[in-house]
Amino acid sequence: MTLIHEEQLKNFIDGKWVEPSSGKATAVINPATSETLVNVPLSAASDVEEATSAAKKAQKTWALVPAPQRAEVLYRVGLIMKERKERLSQLLTMENGKVIEEARGEVQEGIDMAFYMAGEGRRLFGQTTPSELKDKFAMSVRAPVGVVGIITPWNFPIAIATWKSFPAIVAGNAVVWKPATETPIMAYELAKIFEEAGLPKGVINVVFGSGSTVGEAMIEQEDIRVISFTGSNEVGRGIAGKCGQRLKKVSLEMGGKNGVIVMDDADLSLAVEGILWSAYGTSGQRCTACSRVMVHEKVKDELEERLQKEIAKLSIGNGLDESIKVGPIINRAGLEKVKSYISIGKEEGAKLLTGGYIMENGNHKKGNYFAPTLFTDVKPDMRIAQEEIFGPVVSLIPVKSFEEAVEINNSVEFGLSSSIFTQNVNQVFAAQRDLDTGIVYVNAGTTGAEIHLPFGGTKGTGNGHRDSGVAALDVFTEWKAVYVDFSGKLQRAQIDVE
Ligand code: NDP
Repeated sequence: MTLIHEEQLKNFIDGKWVEPSSGKATAVINPATSETLVNVPLSAASDVEEATSAAKKAQKTWALVPAPQRAEVLYRVGLIMKERKERLSQLLTMENGKVIEEARGEVQEGIDMAFYMAGEGRRLFGQTTPSELKDKFAMSVRAPVGVVGIITPWNFPIAIATWKSFPAIVAGNAVVWKPATETPIMAYELAKIFEEAGLPKGVINVVFGSGSTVGEAMIEQEDIRVISFTGSNEVGRGIAGKCGQRLKKVSLEMGGKNGVIVMDDADLSLAVEGILWSAYGTSGQRCTACSRVMVHEKVKDELEERLQKEIAKLSIGNGLDESIKVGPIINRAGLEKVKSYISIGKEEGAKLLTGGYIMENGNHKKGNYFAPTLFTDVKPDMRIAQEEIFGPVVSLIPVKSFEEAVEINNSVEFGLSSSIFTQNVNQVFAAQRDLDTGIVYVNAGTTGAEIHLPFGGTKGTGNGHRDSGVAALDVFTEWKAVYVDFSGKLQRAQIDVE
């Protein structure tokens, strides 16, 4: 089956498929096979300028379309995605490497988001509140921000795009979107779906190209009033600084160092399953991936043994094969980064139980495969227990008590996701209160967010905003307070109050 029909993707600006003004492009590589899938434009700043003016023009009309009608487009987008789910999933596996089962899950997340945000077209609730004066009416309404810029990473190329673009569009904004250069195919497919669903031209514009050119140019555009970014902490901090200087609203989601707590009364079979799924799924390249396990010393030996046994059973390879459980790392740089943490862990004195190497034999040498890795006797302050590795590497940290586990969980720079395995109801409630992360799971791993809840984290994970759920609307709307005085005379607030 030929899934990709083009040799080179084009930008989508003002409803037209156009070549980048730079004339430059780069290859998109399948991380499972190292084959070139397609070429993607490396656009110039002038392409961003063109996209922004198209968005500005389109937004004025789009904002006047009643929100329930705007939502109709999202319903149609959801239906087309549903119809094309298998094709999108296969393309996603080819460009990103995640196994097909997970790719289907990711596409489903986008479909769910389409229907959920379409529902918001009939809500977009504001508030009415009494006025302090007679014959006066007060309310607050959500107003679109105008043109919004979204910058997305390669690890969830379609789900994260839907978390950001769908709320922006239903709220009456127009979008300029820069997808990750590593994974442009999902962006191309989604733009085509928007086109087919009848989204007016200019409401979504896709500009392919590098972060340093296209991303930076988006920040420079005065008419882009919001930047919503998911990616690395380093890049996110840079974007925040530049947006701060320009008084531009910025929403950041920047990963984690997510921990699972396994108490001495935990159902260990369940804990093993939860750790495997959240640590080695997407080869550990999820911002919510489990990379630390705080295990009670009474069950440490048994957990180590069981995890090693299950890790040995994981099949690693091209995710298009349904029997494969762990796919490749996105690129060589990612692979080398993961490898470097193995030496760091060993030098710091952690004990390597399994994995820890690049897989280079047989079919594995064609792609970027890293063996699922487990360290034990890790100290909470070691670098492997503090820094985001973004690969299939887990550190077991022995603990003596619930309190110690919570303290270690909270002792990192990030605060995205955490989890606890226990049967003790008191500890469950104390954990959901005391774990300093934006997401807490009980008797499940650190992954599995549902689209109608807020997604994001505390501390170095972000800057207080949330993707997904109704909270996403706060990023893409301004609160407007409206006062209607029907007394027929000038009434002065705070002064003419009896
Ligand atoms: P980046 O932060 O570099 O990339 C994320 C997005 O930002 C991409 O679209 C990228 O474009 C863009 N970008 C890069 N530089 C700039 C810039 N100066 N201005 C505006 N946009 C920019 O992440 P990487 O892909 O390099 O991954 C590196 C590490 O980041 C990972 O190993 C992981 O630790 C973390 N990460 C975390 C994610 C999460 O879910 N929180 C997701 C992805 C990465 P382009 O790549 O096309 O140049």
